Amino acid sequence: MYAVDWSRDVETIRVSALHALAYCERLFYLEEVEELYTQNPEVFAGRRLHAELEKQEGEEWEELFLESDELGLRGKVDALRERDGRVIPYEYKRGKSARDAQNKPEAWESDRLQILAYAYLLEMSLGISIPEGRIRYHADNVLVKVPVDEEGKEKVREAIARANELKNSPLRPPVTTNERLCARCSLAPVCLPEEARLNHDKEWKPIRLFPEDDDRPIIHVLEPGASVGRTGDQLKITRRDQPVELLPVQQTGQVVLHSFSQISTQALHFCADREIGVHFISGGGRYVGSFDSRQGSIHRRIRQFSALSDEKMALELSKQLVTCRGQSQRKFLMRSARSKKHEAIRSAIYQLKVMLKQVSGAKSLASLLGMEGNMAALYFSAFPYLLSSDLPVELQFTGRNRRPPKDCCNSLLSFGYALLLKDVMNAILAVGLEPALGFYHQPRTQAPPLALDLMEIFRVPLIDMPVVASLNRGQWHVLEDFERRGEAVWLNDSGRKKFIKIYESRKQESWKHPVTKYSLTYRRLLELEVRLLEKTWNGEGNLFAQIAVR
Ligand code: SF4
Repeated sequence: MYAVDWSRDVETIRVSALHALAYCERLFYLEEVEELYTQNPEVFAGRRLHAELEKQEGEEWEELFLESDELGLRGKVDALRERDGRVIPYEYKRGKSARDAQNKPEAWESDRLQILAYAYLLEMSLGISIPEGRIRYHADNVLVKVPVDEEGKEKVREAIARANELKNSPLRPPVTTNERLCARCSLAPVCLPEEARLNHDKEWKPIRLFPEDDDRPIIHVLEPGASVGRTGDQLKITRRDQPVELLPVQQTGQVVLHSFSQISTQALHFCADREIGVHFISGGGRYVGSFDSRQGSIHRRIRQFSALSDEKMALELSKQLVTCRGQSQRKFLMRSARSKKHEAIRSAIYQLKVMLKQVSGAKSLASLLGMEGNMAALYFSAFPYLLSSDLPVELQFTGRNRRPPKDCCNSLLSFGYALLLKDVMNAILAVGLEPALGFYHQPRTQAPPLALDLMEIFRVPLIDMPVVASLNRGQWHVLEDFERRGEAVWLNDSGRKKFIKIYESRKQESWKHPVTKYSLTYRRLLELEVRLLEKTWNGEGNLFAQIAVR
């Protein structure tokens, strides 16, 4: 038996990667070159099956790592058994077998290649002859025998050569033409094949290949003196004068620590290991930073750097961004104008329309910044008239101010934008891009430019609209929810709790994407937009920033 020393630097291809290659070349590339993996329920179910088999079959089961430098292959055989004096490798599959024209069970092409590769690897490593491999399909209880012949070995050699070719290529392969493969592909939520097809065929009706919502709660720890620790597989939240709260890690989307709440090193390590973003918001409601181990692959970042260093690309993306934000501002005003017919709103709607037409002609980022500044000034000049005249004067809006906010309405907007920045950062890190490399905002402040760029398209729907609606519903109380410190007005503990509830519930609202036409929550949309942005510089279309408020 030949056991692999995994500690050394290996250039061989994993057999399971060949399985991915035979399934779809793009899947191989995303996993092996871009290092993207998702753990969907099917992948977990497959692992459970292996664990159960290990238990049930005890003595007969053998876990065997093999590697052949000569073949350029390595892998772990599911099981190896002796039958009639012959050594046979076994592979276990959770699903059903394929069927031939006569409805006889047969192996799927990718499974066939995988078992052939294991057989070939065994021959090369152990120096014995392997006449066949076997695949057990558990869903229809079928055992398929795959003869190992010269033709099969040639297929394995060809696949290894192709895998090495792709590993050295800077180009991501296109999406498969066999759409049925995508419906069962674990990487569909990051590959976004339907969106790529829509880009090539405007008549294409994409289906959503990922869940409509991410229902893992975002844990906000607001209370001063509260702390987050770890116990077993759970996060443990201790708050003064309250029972300890235990949260299973699978049910946690993010941990957000406000003010001076604490987190233990063990809990930080645990969150890093489980890819749970930990974010910090200051007592004054400013986004401070994130602790996140999701670095993304170097290939992704090199491409991002190369694309965003291209001034033409940066200008085009910035125009899309400014257009998207300006359209959302205008449509929000139009929507409000139906009930509040104030001249300032009507005038802003008209002038925004005129300015939006000029965006496409901008010749530089500097002129675009000027246009955007003018549009923001117009929008905020109409903003006071979106609010009910019945509100107390302290809750009225008299102009945008920040750092620090000087009135209640601005403190709501500022706190909201800080939460939004945190969520956009989380999405960028989940996708594996570099937050410091943006295309519109310049790296002048501590805030990451790419996050500042992306949050532009969400400001109106996720913050401005809920702030205006909640004020007009009478949800805010000057004395109960705010506190004044010198010139500054901040949300107090009760106000921040209330805001977080309004914001998180807004993110859970389902929304129909105007281009893809499928529904998803705003929470999912944050990540989808980052993925669509990344596709623009991979030549996979331009669906980014097409989400203006309707
Ligand atoms: S979603 Fe489809 S195109 Fe994308 S990797 Fe999977 S099978 Fe290939």
